[in-house]
Amino acid sequence: MQKKTIKEIIRPPKGMHDILPEEHRFYNAIYEKMDSIAEYYGFKQFQTPYLEHIEIFTSTLGETTDIVEKEMYTLKTKGKDHLVLRPEGTASIMRAYISNGMHTKPQPVMLSYKGSFFRHEKPQKGRFREFQQFGLEIIGEEKSFADALIIKIFSIMIEELGIEPFTVHVNSIGDKECRPAYRKELVAYYRKHLNYICKDCRSRIKTNPLRLLDCKEEKCQEVKKEAPQMMEFLCTGCQTHFKETLEMLDSFEVPYIIDHTLVRGLDYYTRTVFEILTDVKKGEEEDLSKLALCGGGRYDGLAKFLAKKDIPGVGGSFGIERIIKVMKERKVKLKPKKKPKLFFVQIGQAAKLKSIPMLEQFRKAGLAVGQSFGKGGLSDQLKLASKQKIPYAIILGQKEALEGTVIIRNMENYSQETVSADKIVDIIKKKIK
Ligand code: AMP
Repeated sequence: MQKKTIKEIIRPPKGMHDILPEEHRFYNAIYEKMDSIAEYYGFKQFQTPYLEHIEIFTSTLGETTDIVEKEMYTLKTKGKDHLVLRPEGTASIMRAYISNGMHTKPQPVMLSYKGSFFRHEKPQKGRFREFQQFGLEIIGEEKSFADALIIKIFSIMIEELGIEPFTVHVNSIGDKECRPAYRKELVAYYRKHLNYICKDCRSRIKTNPLRLLDCKEEKCQEVKKEAPQMMEFLCTGCQTHFKETLEMLDSFEVPYIIDHTLVRGLDYYTRTVFEILTDVKKGEEEDLSKLALCGGGRYDGLAKFLAKKDIPGVGGSFGIERIIKVMKERKVKLKPKKKPKLFFVQIGQAAKLKSIPMLEQFRKAGLAVGQSFGKGGLSDQLKLASKQKIPYAIILGQKEALEGTVIIRNMENYSQETVSADKIVDIIKKKIK
């Protein structure tokens, strides 16, 4: 193994990044909005560990999916457990639903989750190896109302974040009854056109035929356009389910397009699949076109391996870094931080010792206070207060600390008064109310 230089070591690993305070404001604002909408609709917040047993993903996502084949961060513990850094949320949530006996509770169980996920992908625009997702799952419900509700809530979230325009893409990929016949037809069709498709597609015919419809290679587009569509193969149950989902989307006033090539790569999906993609506004970079903000679908067969029975469910997740990218490019303003009306200035060791108890009094009284422990001098600290246009400074110097007093300085007219430290909270409350 080649020894890394210090310069290489102090950078985060490839495809991962530090989240600096300014960036963090975006994550907080997005999660705050998503949590409040999800909570309003009855979703309860839920967390699973970052590490799971490898079988949770290998047995549910599918052996030939990109995630399982090449993208999982795996590790063997000293106790010889084979674990994976979670590459996605749904399989873990289903595992937790089963292991916590949630099937015995009133159904459906509606859960939201957020945090980091890990995929060893080729880093490229909008793709990271550690990225954050916010997801929703409705477990224990087979009716199409749940599918339409998830899509509607995701659309509301995008609207509320101010990052329109976007398009909802939906499709049905059938279930274990009707999909095999479609898969056979698709394979037969592609076998007839082997000379006109890319190398990856030639291997997809054998490993994961539905992914043929996912191919973005220029070469494959003509063949893809004429490929048989799942719609013509749906069994009666799947047909009715899809029709109802679309009717509900109409009543919920969610515009959508039926996208026959939308399959989403994982084995556990059944019936509804969806993605929400950005559209470009006039004058915007093409960069923002067709960026997948979120995706998901129904996964009625996912629990089979974990619970030895079918448990219906539907859900999806947002990619938070993608949302941040669109918010930045579309210049969405975050709620400004609440400006403090007080700035706390401390000078000298005795004042420093008293500063925390005094700041605690302000905090308990609900008063936001600016301060700078790093700056020692009076004028530096006052300069900071004026720069932030804070109307009052509270000055605690050596003399005041010993006498049990404190100075209130009006930063607009520079007048000052000395008051007893015990009464400062009441006095200041009256001034700034
Ligand atoms: P998925 O879990 O693959 O269904 O993805 C759901 C959403 O997560 C996508 O629509 C993206 O917005 C986001 N996403 C997926 N993979 C990545 C990645 N490697 N880096 C950043 N965002 C991602």
